[in-house]
Amino acid sequence: MFRIGIGNDTHKLIAGRPLVLGGVTIPSELGSEGHSDSDALAHALIDAVLGAMADGDIGLHFPDTNPKWKDADSFAMLAHVMRRAEARGFHLVNADATIMLERPKLREFISSMRVNIARALNVDGSCVSVKAKTGEGLDAVGRGEAVSAQAIVLLSNDAS
Ligand SMILES: [Zn+2]
Repeated sequence: MFRIGIGNDTHKLIAGRPLVLGGVTIPSELGSEGHSDSDALAHALIDAVLGAMADGDIGLHFPDTNPKWKDADSFAMLAHVMRRAEARGFHLVNADATIMLERPKLREFISSMRVNIARALNVDGSCVSVKAKTGEGLDAVGRGEAVSAQAIVLLSNDAS
């Protein structure tokens, strides 16, 4: 059986915060507002895996109010949801993602992001795609006020 899932996440960009995407800290004057590392790409992937399982969303599994996850690394959360899927007999077939960010350019960081994601999802790096686009000067991304990420995953359960 195959299961497909989609995830989407946006963070406001503000001064004095790190910009972490796909587990890579990107040199940038502005960073993602929010708790912990506020990694929009990791958060989109978490929702995609949970979505494929029809297993709720990131806010349900990792509420700000739970001290266990309050300052948790986003990749610990991503690995946690993948282990939940694996406990049901699923493995990842592939993941594809797009980051929307006006600046800086992300090209040199993409391969490191893919390695981090593949490790958390327990697959070879060839099964993970990360792409980057700008907002062409339009909308909140285009004005440099936000970073967002979209992710889609395919899971397979060989047993059924
Ligand atoms: Zn987020």
